[in-house]
Amino acid sequence: MKASTSKSRVINNYKGTELHAKGWIQEAALRMLMNNLDQEVAERPEDLVVYGGIGKAARNWESYDAIVKSLLELENDETLLIQSGKPVAIFKSHKDAPRVLLANSNLVPAWANWEHFHELDKKGLMMYGQMTAGSWIYIGTQGIVQGTYETFAELARQEFSGSLKHTITLTAGLGGMGGAQPLAVTMNDGVCLAIDVDETRIDRRIETAYLDVKTSNLEEAINLAKEAKKAGRPLSIGLIGNAAEILPIMIEKGFNPDVLTDQTSAHDPLNGYVPIGFSLEEAATLRKENPSKYVKLSKQSMAIHVKAMLTMQQKGAITFDYGNNIRQVAKDEGIENAFDFPGFVPAYIRPLFCEGKGPFRWAALSGDPEDIRKIDEVLLREFKDDEHLCKWVRMAQEKISFQGLPARICWLGYGDRARLGKIINDMVASGEVSAPIVIGRDHLDAGSVASPNRETEGMKDGSDAVSDWPILNAMINAVGGASWVSLHHGGGVGMGYSQHSGMVIVADGTKDADIRLQRVLTTDPGMGVVRHADAGYELAIKTAREKGIKMPMLNQ
Ligand code: NAD
Repeated sequence: MKASTSKSRVINNYKGTELHAKGWIQEAALRMLMNNLDQEVAERPEDLVVYGGIGKAARNWESYDAIVKSLLELENDETLLIQSGKPVAIFKSHKDAPRVLLANSNLVPAWANWEHFHELDKKGLMMYGQMTAGSWIYIGTQGIVQGTYETFAELARQEFSGSLKHTITLTAGLGGMGGAQPLAVTMNDGVCLAIDVDETRIDRRIETAYLDVKTSNLEEAINLAKEAKKAGRPLSIGLIGNAAEILPIMIEKGFNPDVLTDQTSAHDPLNGYVPIGFSLEEAATLRKENPSKYVKLSKQSMAIHVKAMLTMQQKGAITFDYGNNIRQVAKDEGIENAFDFPGFVPAYIRPLFCEGKGPFRWAALSGDPEDIRKIDEVLLREFKDDEHLCKWVRMAQEKISFQGLPARICWLGYGDRARLGKIINDMVASGEVSAPIVIGRDHLDAGSVASPNRETEGMKDGSDAVSDWPILNAMINAVGGASWVSLHHGGGVGMGYSQHSGMVIVADGTKDADIRLQRVLTTDPGMGVVRHADAGYELAIKTAREKGIKMPMLNQ
């Protein structure tokens, strides 16, 4: 069967303790690639799309098949090279080297725009890797839910004395990442009104218990939200519609939320954002028949969307950009004050980055939820003094349903990541968990991304656009023996606006893994501390000093 033509192709991931590849690291890469494309995990697996607009796991089905074959045959002293989702070479390396190195969507800076990318994509020469799509460590909406929870928790601390109770958060976009918003808001005891133009996305969030109810009636949505706010009852409401159309109507009706943000796929005006006045089918037709008209209309709609957000901000809504680059598009479209509301990183997340904290996660290759539960229990015991962390793990156990391979997201920082890595490897070695565990993180981490409109917005020393940092991060993680390392461009905010790196490391219970885990789980968050200390953040400088990180010029 020619896989590329098969629309109905369903990937059945390997589970259990039986090895199919020649080592657990290759097996891990294989299972995580398949997991990214699992029906429960990916947004459009039939097109190899995992999340975030057109973020893909492999360039096309031929490439996917060749990657699977390569991983099955890969020796324990070889390294497979992936160029934008296509396997291009296998070289002899050594046992501690990464088994896979991936470079996705990278373009020389002067060519780094969507137009050039689409030309290459059309010719079959490129793929959009987003962040964890092309680097095979996406774990479903759970991967973002703690970051979203931490963002809203910090907002609640700064603005509402610690809780979102009796507040309404208005947002849009219930896709792979944005779908975490309603649960993160209700976990903080608030009410969430979330607009999405695609009813199937809303249904999916209801099925997985990220969202409570849906309606297509604006009046009903507002009333439900107001009632729940008054009663101080957490509730999330999915409203079917186009945000750029609905926000201005809300303003006309005199409705203003307490908190306002947006996670439509605005980073990609062609494949991510739906312009005003178009049904999904009409949008799909125009996208195909007249892409430049589509992009024009899409950008105009984003400008209207941001203008409405600015009006709501002026009327008192705490407003922030949620990492989709919508402010930049609006500014390019003539909304001069588009950057009047801040990005979520400088507003709420940067102090965590200063301690090397970020979206760390692990997944059970066995497919057995019991393995994750056992690690949860050990974590709760070993980190019992960290109240915030323990609260998170208990809440996650209760409220988060697994998608694909069971996994846990946990924002750990410098020191704690290496400590947990050792604990997990020991658990694999002793047979306490039934198969090796994959440990990794999002690219949206402390020291692995340069993205001036998002993770590195408003850096203290003005170094927002310096992308040496993610490159150094990838290199030191590869040297340290990460199992696979990736270097991407354009994730989160789109082509031309970001460069970032990923790392994944497998705890297979061996002594070699012990050494590699200590190295990589130290250098990786260490880069976060160093990047922020170098930029002059006091907390990062303090962390570097306390933890004894060697920075030759820190004292000058
Ligand atoms: P996705 O493509 O899976 O989902 C986007 C959703 O937006 C879809 O459900 C789509 O129907 C909806 N949408 C598009 N246009 C709309 C409109 N005009 N009105 C209402 N709904 C509309 O993307 P995702 O993975 O959820 O990511 C969303 C955005 O957030 C991306 O730009 C992504 O880069 C960014 N992002 C943010 C973070 C973060 O931590 N904040 C992390 C990763 C990604």
